Amino acid sequence: MALDPLVDGHGRRITDLRLSVTDRCNFRCQYCMPAEGLPWLERDAVLHFEEIERVVALLTQMGIASVRLTGGEPLVRRDFPRLAAMLAPLVDDLSVTTNGYLLERDAAALVDAGVNRFNVSVDSLQRDRFFAMTRRDALPQVLRGLEALAAHPEAHPIKVNAVALRGFTEDEILPFAEFARQHSYEVRFIEFMPLDADRAWTRDQVLTGEEIRAAIDAVHPLEPEPREPSATARTYRFADGTGRIGFINPVSEPFCGDCDRIRLTADGRLRTCLFSLNETDLREPLRAGASDADLEQIVRDAVWRKELKHHVNEPGFVQPARTMSSIGG
Ligand code: SAM
Ligand code: SF4
Repeated sequence: MALDPLVDGHGRRITDLRLSVTDRCNFRCQYCMPAEGLPWLERDAVLHFEEIERVVALLTQMGIASVRLTGGEPLVRRDFPRLAAMLAPLVDDLSVTTNGYLLERDAAALVDAGVNRFNVSVDSLQRDRFFAMTRRDALPQVLRGLEALAAHPEAHPIKVNAVALRGFTEDEILPFAEFARQHSYEVRFIEFMPLDADRAWTRDQVLTGEEIRAAIDAVHPLEPEPREPSATARTYRFADGTGRIGFINPVSEPFCGDCDRIRLTADGRLRTCLFSLNETDLREPLRAGASDADLEQIVRDAVWRKELKHHVNEPGFVQPARTMSSIGG
């Protein structure tokens, strides 16, 4: 049974859910987590598979068509492919964002489960620099994971995401451009956002997508592709027809205007913006036996209050208490 579509108070239809399945991670990326990790949620604080399934089923009735599973690192959640298989029949589009470390083990199971799109995070193509950024000496393992995934035609095109930091990523730009040209991966650079656990973000550390685009264009001319509605990335084709590259520029070119996304944290908090300072608890009502109608109303009320835009570029910006790994990027 279809319910009324989910709309916010600014008239935007909400069709995309980013669902964090765990706050835990096996990496400690500089721009995300402290070296010592974070205090993990207790096991019972995390939504159970059946609870996630119930929320997703309800949201799909309200027009959520696309679900991206993330974390923390989603593949460290026990039995993660089983969760993917439970959700795949409910949605048109089921994707996973992963650091790739466990893809060699899980790629086939996830593709079989019905995951149709993958984003794999890789910040450097040099082993020592990858180690410095993620605090794990794991580049060979991640590249093996990518290859395992690439063996499945259903998983293509595979996106490879790199967070761009000034003073680090400049040396990665052309190697990543070559990587995108030599493989069928769409490489996308993501601007560093103030969601790091160390709260060390400063504007001058943001290497903008435009700077990277210009550096690539000078060597391998690029042609812009039309922007899809609600897309986070601006994508380009190499003018000679070999490969694509994308830029996610939330700081220098915010794309809030047609945002269609909401997020659910691993402990069942609904967030209407990455930078929300408020969140809405769904876990307590779920566990207290709320009806679908009650849950629907809680979701609608929260979504109605969805932020018009983020305030990263304004004086007085306040970084949310949660970091990227506990929100679900
Ligand atoms: N662990 C998985 C991974 O790394 O792909 C999924 C979760 S991670 C939080 C999701 C995405 O957020 C990754 O692409 C990661 O690089 C990105 N990310 C984390 N912290 C960020 C920050 N401060 N600014 C921009 N992107 C960030
Ligand atoms: Fe883990 Fe992903 Fe955060 Fe890196 S970006 S620490 S892999 S959650």
